Amino acid sequence: MSQTKTAGPAHQALRARLNEIADLNLSASILSWDMETHMPKGGYATRGEHLATLSRHSHALLTSAETRGLIDAARAEAGDDPDDDAVALAAVADYDATRAAKLPGSFVAERARAQTRAHTDWIEARKTSNFKHFLPALESMFDFARRQADYLGYDDHPYDALLGNYERGMKTRDVAAIFADLRARTLPLVRAIAAHADRVSDACVRGHFSQADQLAFSARLAAAVGYDFERGRIDLSAHPFAINFTRHDVRITTRVYEDFLNPCLFGTLHESGHAMYEQGTALEYVRTPLGRGASLGVHESQSRMWENIVGRSLWFWKRWYPELQQVFPGLATTSLETFYGAINKVSPSLIRVEADEVTYNFHIMLRFEIETGVLEGKLKLADMPEIWRARMQDGLGVTPPDDAQGCLQDIHWSSGMVGYFPTYSLGNLLSAQFFAQAQQEVPGLQAALDRGEYGVLLAWLRERIHHHGRKYPPADLVRRVTGGPISAGPYVDYLWAKFGALYGLSQ
Ligand code: ZN
Repeated sequence: MSQTKTAGPAHQALRARLNEIADLNLSASILSWDMETHMPKGGYATRGEHLATLSRHSHALLTSAETRGLIDAARAEAGDDPDDDAVALAAVADYDATRAAKLPGSFVAERARAQTRAHTDWIEARKTSNFKHFLPALESMFDFARRQADYLGYDDHPYDALLGNYERGMKTRDVAAIFADLRARTLPLVRAIAAHADRVSDACVRGHFSQADQLAFSARLAAAVGYDFERGRIDLSAHPFAINFTRHDVRITTRVYEDFLNPCLFGTLHESGHAMYEQGTALEYVRTPLGRGASLGVHESQSRMWENIVGRSLWFWKRWYPELQQVFPGLATTSLETFYGAINKVSPSLIRVEADEVTYNFHIMLRFEIETGVLEGKLKLADMPEIWRARMQDGLGVTPPDDAQGCLQDIHWSSGMVGYFPTYSLGNLLSAQFFAQAQQEVPGLQAALDRGEYGVLLAWLRERIHHHGRKYPPADLVRRVTGGPISAGPYVDYLWAKFGALYGLSQ
Protein backbone atom coordinates (compact mmCIF):
# COMPACT_ATOMS: atom_id res chain seq x y z
CA MET A 1 0.00 0.00 0.00
CA SER A 2 1.07 3.57 -0.36
CA GLN A 3 3.17 4.93 2.42
CA THR A 4 5.67 7.69 2.91
CA LYS A 5 8.41 6.79 5.33
CA THR A 6 10.72 9.61 4.44
CA ALA A 7 8.57 12.73 4.01
CA GLY A 8 11.44 14.97 5.05
CA PRO A 9 12.06 18.60 4.09
CA ALA A 10 13.56 17.74 0.67
CA HIS A 11 10.48 15.65 -0.14
CA GLN A 12 8.19 18.52 0.90
CA ALA A 13 10.11 21.05 -1.20
CA LEU A 14 10.05 18.80 -4.27
CA ARG A 15 6.38 18.10 -3.76
CA ALA A 16 5.54 21.82 -3.68
CA ARG A 17 7.37 22.32 -6.96
CA LEU A 18 5.65 19.31 -8.57
CA ASN A 19 2.28 20.68 -7.43
CA GLU A 20 2.99 23.89 -9.32
CA ILE A 21 3.98 21.99 -12.48
CA ALA A 22 0.90 19.76 -12.19
CA ASP A 23 -1.31 22.86 -11.98
CA LEU A 24 0.07 24.15 -15.28
CA ASN A 25 -0.36 20.77 -16.98
CA LEU A 26 -3.86 20.20 -15.60
CA SER A 27 -4.90 23.70 -16.69
CA ALA A 28 -3.70 22.86 -20.20
CA SER A 29 -5.85 19.72 -20.01
CA ILE A 30 -8.91 21.85 -19.24
CA LEU A 31 -8.17 23.98 -22.33
CA SER A 32 -7.83 20.81 -24.42
CA TRP A 33 -11.09 19.43 -23.07
CA ASP A 34 -12.82 22.70 -23.92
CA MET A 35 -11.33 22.66 -27.42
CA GLU A 36 -12.77 19.18 -28.05
CA THR A 37 -16.21 19.79 -26.57
CA HIS A 38 -17.60 23.34 -26.40
CA MET A 39 -15.16 25.81 -28.00
CA PRO A 40 -16.48 27.73 -31.01
CA LYS A 41 -14.49 27.27 -34.22
CA GLY A 42 -13.02 30.77 -33.88
CA GLY A 43 -11.24 29.65 -30.73
CA TYR A 44 -8.71 27.72 -32.78
CA ALA A 45 -7.11 31.04 -33.79
CA THR A 46 -5.60 31.50 -30.32
CA ARG A 47 -6.04 28.25 -28.40
CA GLY A 48 -2.76 26.92 -29.76
CA GLU A 49 -0.97 29.95 -28.26
CA HIS A 50 -2.58 29.39 -24.86
CA LEU A 51 -1.49 25.78 -24.85
CA ALA A 52 2.00 26.63 -26.10
CA THR A 53 2.48 29.19 -23.31
CA LEU A 54 1.40 26.77 -20.58
CA SER A 55 3.51 24.03 -22.08
CA ARG A 56 6.56 26.34 -22.25
CA HIS A 57 6.23 27.36 -18.60
CA SER A 58 5.64 23.81 -17.42
CA HIS A 59 8.65 22.59 -19.38
CA ALA A 60 10.85 25.43 -18.09
CA LEU A 61 9.87 24.74 -14.50
CA LEU A 62 10.38 20.98 -14.76
CA THR A 63 13.80 21.31 -16.42
CA SER A 64 15.14 24.23 -14.37
CA ALA A 65 18.38 23.89 -12.40
CA GLU A 66 16.41 24.60 -9.24
CA THR A 67 14.02 21.67 -9.84
CA ARG A 68 16.98 19.43 -10.66
CA GLY A 69 18.45 20.38 -7.28
CA LEU A 70 15.15 19.58 -5.53
CA ILE A 71 14.96 16.18 -7.25
CA ASP A 72 18.54 15.26 -6.37
CA ALA A 73 18.04 16.30 -2.75
CA ALA A 74 14.78 14.34 -2.49
CA ARG A 75 16.37 11.23 -4.04
CA ALA A 76 19.27 11.42 -1.58
CA GLU A 77 16.87 11.87 1.34
CA ALA A 78 14.45 9.13 0.30
CA GLY A 79 16.69 6.06 0.01
CA ASP A 80 15.69 3.17 -2.25
CA ASP A 81 12.67 1.29 -0.86
CA PRO A 82 10.44 0.91 -3.95
CA ASP A 83 7.32 0.72 -1.76
CA ASP A 84 7.98 4.13 -0.24
CA ASP A 85 5.91 6.88 -1.90
CA ALA A 86 8.67 9.44 -1.34
CA VAL A 87 11.11 7.22 -3.24
CA ALA A 88 8.61 6.73 -6.09
CA LEU A 89 7.79 10.43 -6.31
CA ALA A 90 11.44 11.44 -6.58
CA ALA A 91 12.15 8.64 -9.09
CA VAL A 92 9.21 9.53 -11.35
CA ALA A 93 10.05 13.24 -11.18
CA ASP A 94 13.63 12.35 -12.11
CA TYR A 95 12.44 10.25 -15.08
CA ASP A 96 10.14 13.02 -16.34
CA ALA A 97 12.64 15.83 -15.81
CA THR A 98 15.48 13.92 -17.44
CA ARG A 99 13.39 13.17 -20.54
CA ALA A 100 11.99 16.70 -20.68
CA ALA A 101 15.46 18.23 -20.38
CA LYS A 102 16.44 16.42 -23.54
CA LEU A 103 13.76 18.33 -25.47
CA PRO A 104 14.64 22.00 -26.08
CA GLY A 105 11.91 24.44 -24.95
CA SER A 106 11.72 25.93 -28.45
CA PHE A 107 11.04 22.45 -29.87
CA VAL A 108 8.21 21.82 -27.38
CA ALA A 109 6.53 25.17 -28.05
CA GLU A 110 6.91 24.86 -31.83
CA ARG A 111 5.42 21.36 -31.72
CA ALA A 112 2.45 22.48 -29.61
CA ARG A 113 1.59 25.18 -32.17
CA ALA A 114 2.04 22.77 -35.08
CA GLN A 115 -0.24 20.26 -33.37
CA THR A 116 -3.07 22.75 -33.20
CA ARG A 117 -2.70 23.50 -36.93
CA ALA A 118 -2.43 19.79 -37.75
CA HIS A 119 -5.57 19.09 -35.75
CA THR A 120 -7.53 21.71 -37.75
CA ASP A 121 -6.19 20.32 -41.05
CA TRP A 122 -7.09 16.78 -40.02
CA ILE A 123 -10.67 17.73 -39.14
CA GLU A 124 -11.09 19.40 -42.53
CA ALA A 125 -9.34 16.56 -44.41
CA ARG A 126 -11.46 13.92 -42.74
CA LYS A 127 -14.68 15.84 -43.41
CA THR A 128 -13.89 16.07 -47.14
CA SER A 129 -11.96 12.77 -47.28
CA ASN A 130 -9.04 14.69 -48.78
CA PHE A 131 -5.77 13.10 -47.71
CA LYS A 132 -3.67 15.65 -49.60
CA HIS A 133 -5.07 18.39 -47.37
CA PHE A 134 -3.61 16.61 -44.32
CA LEU A 135 -0.34 15.34 -45.84
CA PRO A 136 1.88 18.41 -45.08
CA ALA A 137 0.72 18.45 -41.44
CA LEU A 138 1.13 14.68 -41.18
CA GLU A 139 4.67 14.93 -42.52
CA SER A 140 5.42 17.65 -40.02
CA MET A 141 4.04 15.50 -37.15
CA PHE A 142 6.22 12.53 -38.11
CA ASP A 143 9.15 14.90 -38.50
CA PHE A 144 8.58 16.15 -34.94
CA ALA A 145 8.36 12.50 -33.80
CA ARG A 146 11.66 11.65 -35.48
CA ARG A 147 13.35 14.71 -33.97
CA GLN A 148 11.90 13.83 -30.59
CA ALA A 149 13.34 10.31 -30.81
CA ASP A 150 16.73 11.77 -31.67
CA TYR A 151 16.60 14.17 -28.73
CA LEU A 152 15.49 11.44 -26.30
CA GLY A 153 17.99 8.88 -27.56
CA TYR A 154 17.56 5.12 -28.01
CA ASP A 155 19.63 1.96 -28.29
CA ASP A 156 17.85 -0.24 -30.84
CA HIS A 157 15.08 1.60 -32.63
CA PRO A 158 13.91 5.25 -32.76
CA TYR A 159 10.42 3.93 -32.02
CA ASP A 160 11.60 2.80 -28.56
CA ALA A 161 12.01 6.44 -27.57
CA LEU A 162 8.45 7.24 -28.69
CA LEU A 163 6.91 4.16 -27.04
CA GLY A 164 8.58 5.40 -23.85
CA ASN A 165 6.22 8.41 -23.87
CA TYR A 166 3.31 6.08 -23.19
CA GLU A 167 4.71 2.78 -21.94
CA ARG A 168 7.79 3.29 -19.81
CA GLY A 169 10.36 0.57 -20.49
CA MET A 170 8.57 -1.15 -23.40
CA LYS A 171 10.73 -2.01 -26.44
CA THR A 172 9.72 -2.12 -30.11
CA ARG A 173 11.07 -5.67 -30.45
CA ASP A 174 8.95 -6.83 -27.47
CA VAL A 175 5.82 -5.33 -29.02
CA ALA A 176 6.67 -6.98 -32.36
CA ALA A 177 7.10 -10.36 -30.64
CA ILE A 178 3.85 -10.06 -28.64
CA PHE A 179 1.97 -9.01 -31.80
CA ALA A 180 3.41 -11.91 -33.83
CA ASP A 181 2.23 -14.37 -31.15
CA LEU A 182 -1.17 -12.69 -30.91
CA ARG A 183 -1.64 -12.68 -34.68
CA ALA A 184 -0.68 -16.35 -35.02
CA ARG A 185 -3.13 -17.43 -32.30
CA THR A 186 -6.02 -15.15 -33.33
CA LEU A 187 -6.00 -15.63 -37.10
CA PRO A 188 -7.38 -19.21 -36.87
CA LEU A 189 -10.26 -17.80 -34.80
CA VAL A 190 -10.95 -15.06 -37.37
CA ARG A 191 -11.00 -17.71 -40.12
CA ALA A 192 -13.21 -20.11 -38.14
CA ILE A 193 -15.70 -17.33 -37.39
CA ALA A 194 -15.70 -16.18 -41.03
CA ALA A 195 -16.82 -19.70 -42.01
CA HIS A 196 -19.83 -19.34 -39.66
CA ALA A 197 -20.49 -15.61 -40.04
CA ASP A 198 -24.22 -16.17 -40.61
CA ARG A 199 -24.71 -17.54 -37.10
CA VAL A 200 -24.77 -14.03 -35.61
CA SER A 201 -26.62 -10.93 -36.82
CA ASP A 202 -26.43 -7.38 -35.51
CA ALA A 203 -29.67 -6.25 -37.18
CA CYS A 204 -31.38 -5.60 -33.83
CA VAL A 205 -28.88 -2.89 -32.75
CA ARG A 206 -29.37 -1.07 -36.05
CA GLY A 207 -32.55 0.92 -36.41
CA HIS A 208 -33.55 4.14 -34.70
CA PHE A 209 -32.39 4.90 -31.15
CA SER A 210 -32.81 8.51 -30.03
CA GLN A 211 -29.73 10.41 -28.94
CA ALA A 212 -31.27 11.50 -25.65
CA ASP A 213 -32.27 7.94 -24.71
CA GLN A 214 -28.87 6.53 -25.65
CA LEU A 215 -27.08 9.16 -23.59
CA ALA A 216 -29.33 8.66 -20.58
CA PHE A 217 -29.06 4.87 -20.61
CA SER A 218 -25.28 4.95 -21.13
CA ALA A 219 -24.91 7.33 -18.20
CA ARG A 220 -26.94 4.92 -16.05
CA LEU A 221 -24.58 2.08 -16.96
CA ALA A 222 -21.55 4.28 -16.25
CA ALA A 223 -22.93 5.09 -12.79
CA ALA A 224 -23.82 1.42 -12.17
CA VAL A 225 -20.28 0.19 -12.81
CA GLY A 226 -18.89 2.86 -10.51
CA TYR A 227 -18.08 6.06 -12.44
CA ASP A 228 -18.53 8.82 -9.85
CA PHE A 229 -20.54 11.71 -11.34
CA GLU A 230 -19.79 13.89 -8.32
CA ARG A 231 -16.27 13.92 -9.74
CA GLY A 232 -17.06 13.62 -13.44
CA ARG A 233 -19.37 14.44 -16.34
CA ILE A 234 -20.13 13.28 -19.88
CA ASP A 235 -20.06 15.49 -22.97
CA LEU A 236 -20.15 14.84 -26.71
CA SER A 237 -17.05 15.00 -28.91
CA ALA A 238 -15.96 13.77 -32.35
CA HIS A 239 -13.58 11.25 -30.81
CA PRO A 240 -14.44 9.95 -27.32
CA PHE A 241 -11.85 10.39 -24.58
CA ALA A 242 -11.35 10.58 -20.81
CA ILE A 243 -9.38 13.41 -19.23
CA ASN A 244 -8.12 13.93 -15.70
CA PHE A 245 -7.88 17.29 -13.93
CA THR A 246 -6.94 15.43 -10.67
CA ARG A 247 -8.93 12.53 -9.22
CA HIS A 248 -11.55 15.05 -8.08
CA ASP A 249 -12.62 15.90 -11.64
CA VAL A 250 -12.24 13.22 -14.30
CA ARG A 251 -14.43 13.81 -17.38
CA ILE A 252 -15.39 11.64 -20.29
CA THR A 253 -16.91 12.22 -23.71
CA THR A 254 -18.92 9.95 -25.95
CA ARG A 255 -20.55 10.00 -29.37
CA VAL A 256 -23.94 8.87 -30.62
CA TYR A 257 -25.17 7.36 -33.86
CA GLU A 258 -28.96 7.32 -33.87
CA ASP A 259 -29.00 4.36 -36.28
CA PHE A 260 -26.57 2.18 -34.31
CA LEU A 261 -26.76 1.42 -30.61
CA ASN A 262 -23.28 0.04 -29.88
CA PRO A 263 -20.93 3.05 -30.13
CA CYS A 264 -22.57 5.15 -27.42
CA LEU A 265 -23.23 2.26 -24.99
CA PHE A 266 -19.81 0.69 -25.21
CA GLY A 267 -17.86 3.88 -25.88
CA THR A 268 -19.29 5.30 -22.65
CA LEU A 269 -18.40 2.15 -20.67
CA HIS A 270 -14.93 2.27 -22.20
CA GLU A 271 -14.25 5.86 -21.18
CA SER A 272 -15.82 5.21 -17.77
CA GLY A 273 -13.21 2.49 -17.28
CA HIS A 274 -10.46 5.03 -17.94
CA ALA A 275 -12.09 7.58 -15.66
CA MET A 276 -12.64 5.14 -12.77
CA TYR A 277 -8.92 4.37 -12.87
CA GLU A 278 -8.08 8.06 -12.44
CA GLN A 279 -10.78 8.56 -9.82
CA GLY A 280 -9.23 5.68 -7.86
CA THR A 281 -5.67 6.99 -7.59
CA ALA A 282 -4.48 7.69 -4.04
CA LEU A 283 -5.65 10.95 -2.47
CA GLU A 284 -2.09 11.83 -1.47
CA TYR A 285 -0.99 11.71 -5.14
CA VAL A 286 -3.21 14.64 -6.17
CA ARG A 287 -1.27 17.37 -8.04
CA THR A 288 1.81 15.17 -8.31
CA PRO A 289 3.11 13.09 -11.23
CA LEU A 290 2.01 9.94 -9.36
CA GLY A 291 -1.66 10.97 -9.58
CA ARG A 292 -2.51 9.26 -12.85
CA GLY A 293 -2.42 5.86 -14.52
CA ALA A 294 0.76 3.77 -14.66
CA SER A 295 0.87 3.77 -18.47
CA LEU A 296 -1.49 3.89 -21.41
CA GLY A 297 -1.43 0.10 -21.71
CA VAL A 298 -2.50 -0.34 -18.10
CA HIS A 299 -5.07 2.41 -18.67
CA GLU A 300 -6.51 0.62 -21.66
CA SER A 301 -6.74 -2.60 -19.64
CA GLN A 302 -9.23 -0.82 -17.38
CA SER A 303 -11.35 0.64 -20.18
CA ARG A 304 -11.39 -2.65 -22.08
CA MET A 305 -12.29 -4.67 -19.01
CA TRP A 306 -15.41 -2.58 -18.35
CA GLU A 307 -16.31 -2.19 -22.02
CA ASN A 308 -15.77 -5.78 -23.15
CA ILE A 309 -15.14 -8.35 -20.45
CA VAL A 310 -17.93 -6.88 -18.29
CA GLY A 311 -19.99 -4.77 -20.72
CA ARG A 312 -20.24 -7.28 -23.56
CA SER A 313 -20.79 -10.34 -21.37
CA LEU A 314 -23.98 -12.37 -21.23
CA TRP A 315 -24.18 -12.00 -17.44
CA PHE A 316 -24.03 -8.21 -17.66
CA TRP A 317 -26.99 -8.08 -20.04
CA LYS A 318 -29.02 -10.63 -18.10
CA ARG A 319 -29.15 -7.85 -15.53
CA TRP A 320 -29.61 -4.85 -17.89
CA TYR A 321 -31.38 -6.07 -20.99
CA PRO A 322 -34.94 -5.88 -19.60
CA GLU A 323 -34.34 -2.21 -18.76
CA LEU A 324 -32.82 -1.53 -22.17
CA GLN A 325 -35.92 -3.08 -23.75
CA GLN A 326 -38.11 -0.69 -21.78
CA VAL A 327 -36.15 2.32 -23.02
CA PHE A 328 -36.11 1.05 -26.61
CA PRO A 329 -39.39 -0.84 -27.19
CA GLY A 330 -38.16 -1.82 -30.68
CA LEU A 331 -36.11 -4.49 -28.86
CA ALA A 332 -39.17 -5.94 -27.09
CA THR A 333 -39.37 -8.99 -29.35
CA THR A 334 -35.60 -9.55 -29.55
CA SER A 335 -34.28 -12.27 -27.23
CA LEU A 336 -31.37 -11.68 -24.85
CA GLU A 337 -29.31 -14.25 -26.78
CA THR A 338 -29.93 -12.45 -30.09
CA PHE A 339 -28.99 -9.10 -28.52
CA TYR A 340 -25.87 -10.67 -26.97
CA GLY A 341 -24.83 -11.90 -30.41
CA ALA A 342 -25.50 -8.48 -31.94
CA ILE A 343 -23.19 -6.66 -29.52
CA ASN A 344 -20.48 -9.26 -30.09
CA LYS A 345 -20.75 -9.84 -33.84
CA VAL A 346 -17.33 -10.38 -35.36
CA SER A 347 -16.96 -8.72 -38.70
CA PRO A 348 -13.76 -7.50 -40.36
CA SER A 349 -14.45 -3.77 -40.73
CA LEU A 350 -12.89 -0.43 -41.60
CA ILE A 351 -13.06 1.63 -38.42
CA ARG A 352 -10.77 0.80 -35.52
CA VAL A 353 -12.91 2.25 -32.73
CA GLU A 354 -15.91 0.21 -33.86
CA ALA A 355 -14.00 -3.04 -34.41
CA ASP A 356 -14.98 -6.19 -32.51
CA GLU A 357 -12.77 -7.82 -29.90
CA VAL A 358 -11.40 -10.44 -32.30
CA THR A 359 -10.33 -8.19 -35.19
CA TYR A 360 -9.48 -5.02 -33.20
CA ASN A 361 -5.82 -5.88 -32.71
CA PHE A 362 -5.33 -6.25 -36.47
CA HIS A 363 -6.11 -2.51 -36.82
CA ILE A 364 -3.38 -1.80 -34.28
CA MET A 365 -0.85 -4.06 -35.98
CA LEU A 366 -1.42 -2.14 -39.25
CA ARG A 367 -0.71 1.20 -37.55
CA PHE A 368 2.32 -0.23 -35.73
CA GLU A 369 3.75 -1.48 -39.05
CA ILE A 370 3.16 1.91 -40.68
CA GLU A 371 4.69 3.93 -37.85
CA THR A 372 7.79 1.76 -37.56
CA GLY A 373 8.06 1.52 -41.37
CA VAL A 374 7.97 5.31 -41.77
CA LEU A 375 10.56 5.80 -39.02
CA GLU A 376 12.80 3.18 -40.64
CA GLY A 377 12.44 5.00 -43.97
CA LYS A 378 10.83 1.94 -45.60
CA LEU A 379 7.44 3.62 -46.10
CA LYS A 380 6.53 7.10 -47.39
CA LEU A 381 3.65 9.04 -45.84
CA ALA A 382 2.56 10.22 -49.30
CA ASP A 383 1.85 6.56 -50.12
CA MET A 384 -0.24 6.07 -47.00
CA PRO A 385 -3.69 5.76 -48.69
CA GLU A 386 -2.37 3.01 -50.99
CA ILE A 387 -0.53 1.25 -48.18
CA TRP A 388 -3.62 1.42 -46.01
CA ARG A 389 -5.90 -0.06 -48.66
CA ALA A 390 -3.45 -2.85 -49.49
CA ARG A 391 -2.83 -3.84 -45.86
CA MET A 392 -6.52 -3.72 -44.89
CA GLN A 393 -7.31 -5.96 -47.86
CA ASP A 394 -4.43 -8.26 -47.00
CA GLY A 395 -5.09 -8.48 -43.25
CA LEU A 396 -8.87 -8.23 -42.85
CA GLY A 397 -10.13 -8.63 -46.40
CA VAL A 398 -11.83 -5.23 -46.54
CA THR A 399 -10.92 -2.08 -48.52
CA PRO A 400 -11.87 1.46 -47.44
CA PRO A 401 -13.86 3.26 -50.15
CA ASP A 402 -12.29 6.59 -49.14
CA ASP A 403 -9.55 7.92 -46.87
CA ALA A 404 -11.96 9.21 -44.23
CA GLN A 405 -12.73 5.56 -43.52
CA GLY A 406 -9.08 4.66 -44.00
CA CYS A 407 -5.94 6.47 -42.97
CA LEU A 408 -7.73 9.68 -41.88
CA GLN A 409 -9.95 8.02 -39.26
CA ASP A 410 -7.77 8.47 -36.15
CA ILE A 411 -6.99 11.65 -34.24
CA HIS A 412 -3.57 10.45 -33.01
CA TRP A 413 -1.21 11.48 -35.77
CA SER A 414 -2.82 14.93 -35.99
CA SER A 415 -1.83 15.35 -32.34
CA GLY A 416 1.71 14.11 -32.93
CA MET A 417 1.05 10.89 -31.02
CA VAL A 418 3.33 8.42 -32.80
CA GLY A 419 4.04 5.31 -30.70
CA TYR A 420 0.65 5.42 -28.99
CA PHE A 421 -1.32 2.79 -30.92
CA PRO A 422 0.37 -0.37 -29.56
CA THR A 423 -0.84 0.55 -26.06
CA TYR A 424 -4.42 -0.29 -27.14
CA SER A 425 -3.52 -3.89 -27.87
CA LEU A 426 -1.29 -4.19 -24.82
CA GLY A 427 -4.33 -3.01 -22.87
CA ASN A 428 -6.55 -5.66 -24.45
CA LEU A 429 -4.11 -8.35 -23.36
CA LEU A 430 -3.81 -6.93 -19.85
CA SER A 431 -7.58 -6.63 -19.43
CA ALA A 432 -7.91 -10.42 -19.67
CA GLN A 433 -4.78 -11.04 -17.62
CA PHE A 434 -6.02 -8.83 -14.75
CA PHE A 435 -9.57 -10.18 -14.89
CA ALA A 436 -8.32 -13.77 -14.73
CA GLN A 437 -6.27 -12.78 -11.69
CA ALA A 438 -9.29 -11.18 -10.00
CA GLN A 439 -11.30 -14.36 -10.60
CA GLN A 440 -8.60 -16.37 -8.86
CA GLU A 441 -8.28 -14.03 -5.90
CA VAL A 442 -11.78 -12.76 -5.14
CA PRO A 443 -14.15 -15.36 -3.66
CA GLY A 444 -17.65 -15.12 -5.10
CA LEU A 445 -16.65 -12.60 -7.76
CA GLN A 446 -18.72 -14.12 -10.55
CA ALA A 447 -21.78 -14.49 -8.32
CA ALA A 448 -21.55 -10.80 -7.38
CA LEU A 449 -21.16 -9.76 -11.02
CA ASP A 450 -24.16 -11.92 -11.95
CA ARG A 451 -26.21 -9.99 -9.39
CA GLY A 452 -25.13 -6.70 -10.96
CA GLU A 453 -22.78 -5.86 -8.09
CA TYR A 454 -19.68 -4.45 -9.72
CA GLY A 455 -18.21 -2.91 -6.57
CA VAL A 456 -16.42 -6.16 -5.69
CA LEU A 457 -14.43 -6.05 -8.92
CA LEU A 458 -13.88 -2.30 -8.68
CA ALA A 459 -12.60 -2.62 -5.10
CA TRP A 460 -10.06 -5.25 -6.20
CA LEU A 461 -8.91 -3.03 -9.10
CA ARG A 462 -8.72 -0.03 -6.75
CA GLU A 463 -6.53 -1.87 -4.28
CA ARG A 464 -4.28 -3.71 -6.70
CA ILE A 465 -3.97 -1.16 -9.53
CA HIS A 466 -5.78 2.19 -9.28
CA HIS A 467 -4.54 3.25 -5.87
CA HIS A 468 -0.89 3.02 -6.95
CA GLY A 469 -1.28 5.55 -9.75
CA ARG A 470 2.05 5.91 -11.48
CA LYS A 471 4.10 4.67 -8.53
CA TYR A 472 5.41 1.47 -10.16
CA PRO A 473 6.75 1.16 -13.73
CA PRO A 474 4.09 -0.69 -15.79
CA ALA A 475 6.03 -3.95 -16.13
CA ASP A 476 6.59 -3.99 -12.33
CA LEU A 477 2.92 -3.32 -11.67
CA VAL A 478 1.86 -6.14 -14.00
CA ARG A 479 4.24 -8.50 -12.23
CA ARG A 480 3.01 -7.42 -8.79
CA VAL A 481 -0.61 -8.01 -9.79
CA THR A 482 -0.32 -11.17 -11.90
CA GLY A 483 3.05 -12.66 -10.88
CA GLY A 484 4.37 -12.56 -14.44
CA PRO A 485 5.00 -10.40 -17.53
CA ILE A 486 2.40 -9.25 -20.04
CA SER A 487 1.34 -12.14 -22.25
CA ALA A 488 -1.14 -12.85 -25.04
CA GLY A 489 -2.24 -16.15 -23.44
CA PRO A 490 -5.15 -15.08 -21.20
CA TYR A 491 -6.63 -12.82 -23.90
CA VAL A 492 -6.44 -15.52 -26.57
CA ASP A 493 -8.04 -18.02 -24.15
CA TYR A 494 -10.78 -15.50 -23.36
CA LEU A 495 -11.49 -14.90 -27.08
CA TRP A 496 -11.64 -18.59 -27.94
CA ALA A 497 -13.93 -19.40 -24.98
CA LYS A 498 -16.31 -16.51 -25.62
CA PHE A 499 -16.47 -16.52 -29.40
CA GLY A 500 -16.13 -20.28 -29.71
CA ALA A 501 -19.37 -20.57 -27.72
CA LEU A 502 -21.10 -17.71 -29.53
CA TYR A 503 -20.27 -19.04 -32.98
CA GLY A 504 -20.61 -22.74 -32.06
CA LEU A 505 -16.99 -23.56 -32.92
CA SER A 506 -15.23 -26.70 -31.75
CA GLN A 507 -11.63 -25.99 -30.82
ZN1 ZN B 1 -9.19 3.87 -24.35
